Amino acid sequence: MDLLESATQSAGARLIERLGVMRRISQRNDWIERILFSPAAEEAAYKLKGWMKATGMDTIYDPLTNVYGQIVFSTEGPDAPRIHLGSHYDTVVNAGAFDGILGVLIGIAVAEAIVESKEPFSHNLSVLAFCDEEGVRFNTTFLGSAYLSGQFDEAWLHKEDEFGKTLGEWLVDRAESIDTILSAHESPYVRPQDLYLETHIEQGPILESSNKGVGVFTRIAAQLRSEIILTGCAGHAGTIPARLRKDPLPVASEMVLAVNDLCRSDERIRATVGQLEVIPNASNVIPGQVKFSIDMRHPDMEGLKLAHDKLTKKIEWIAKRSNLELGYKVVHQASDARLDDKLTDALDESCEALQGSSMRMFSGAGHDGMKLAQVCPTGMLAVRCKDGLSHHPDEFASNADCLLAFKTMLRTVLMIDKNR
Ligand SMILES: [Zn+2]
Repeated sequence: MDLLESATQSAGARLIERLGVMRRISQRNDWIERILFSPAAEEAAYKLKGWMKATGMDTIYDPLTNVYGQIVFSTEGPDAPRIHLGSHYDTVVNAGAFDGILGVLIGIAVAEAIVESKEPFSHNLSVLAFCDEEGVRFNTTFLGSAYLSGQFDEAWLHKEDEFGKTLGEWLVDRAESIDTILSAHESPYVRPQDLYLETHIEQGPILESSNKGVGVFTRIAAQLRSEIILTGCAGHAGTIPARLRKDPLPVASEMVLAVNDLCRSDERIRATVGQLEVIPNASNVIPGQVKFSIDMRHPDMEGLKLAHDKLTKKIEWIAKRSNLELGYKVVHQASDARLDDKLTDALDESCEALQGSSMRMFSGAGHDGMKLAQVCPTGMLAVRCKDGLSHHPDEFASNADCLLAFKTMLRTVLMIDKNR
């Protein structure tokens, strides 16, 4: 066995072991939960920092609790172009054990294999563990990756968590300097001369249905989230006949069906009503108000806008016929991210070499790679997960697939280092 092969084997074994360690770091006993600034998130960060350090990285735990570090291979020193590998280590509530953390641990494993095998390497190799991708605490997705790539938005400091405490207040309590945070974009750690590669479970069923362990994302879908409030008039369920009611629930139901029709009309469109609130929600009261959410995705922003226009026209038309008051607000919008062609080709080639074939696909889920793609060339490797399940305790990627993803990423990084 040559040196690279044995280093790959031992880094792979540690990768599997560490997935087990991270699964146990949770603020709940009954499920996995690591939310920004929670003790569990801090414990996870501390562990990751230790593993990064052990590979010989200079590590940083920054004010927002991102953990990152690099091994300086370049003869031009620490500021030379970096190859970044990573993902996020926070989770949603009631989460699975692979979303995000797999990409971080694969980054560390790749670094270990390169160091231990003494493979010639000329770029600085960096691993990024983002503190907050899911946005559970402040409802701000990509907080960690935005900060490290110089895209932090000052307005986020005023975002409140469920207890009314703002991000700014959290940072002050943690004795962080707000000025330092606001000036971080002047010399961000992730720069245009760098490149970024992320491994992430697919969070969908395509790879599994195609019988493949790994595949390549070519782009990340554009997203749009809106909030709808339909107001009628609450009343006694027993006394008011249909013709005199202003019941928003049947009307909202028509709108929900319109969302579903749109989703079924085109394979590229995802449209979902995931939240619906009936007020006052009592069995003997005609509802006075209904609030619901619409989440829409499409591989490109143009297509998303067209689909969204079509849907809002339909919703307005339904509302008009009903004589109810309609409130419609877009609350979140993210453009699609086109991933870098050369990095996608490189990942594709490694998939073919190690799996016998590759598969290109778009990601309907948002990722840190979306943020980083705005700053530097970005590529993403997708890993099969059982039943396409994610954001769920039964989320599962097999050891074999995790190891295949690690080897695919290692091969890609070595190839890119040689060719750039
Ligand atoms: Zn994720």
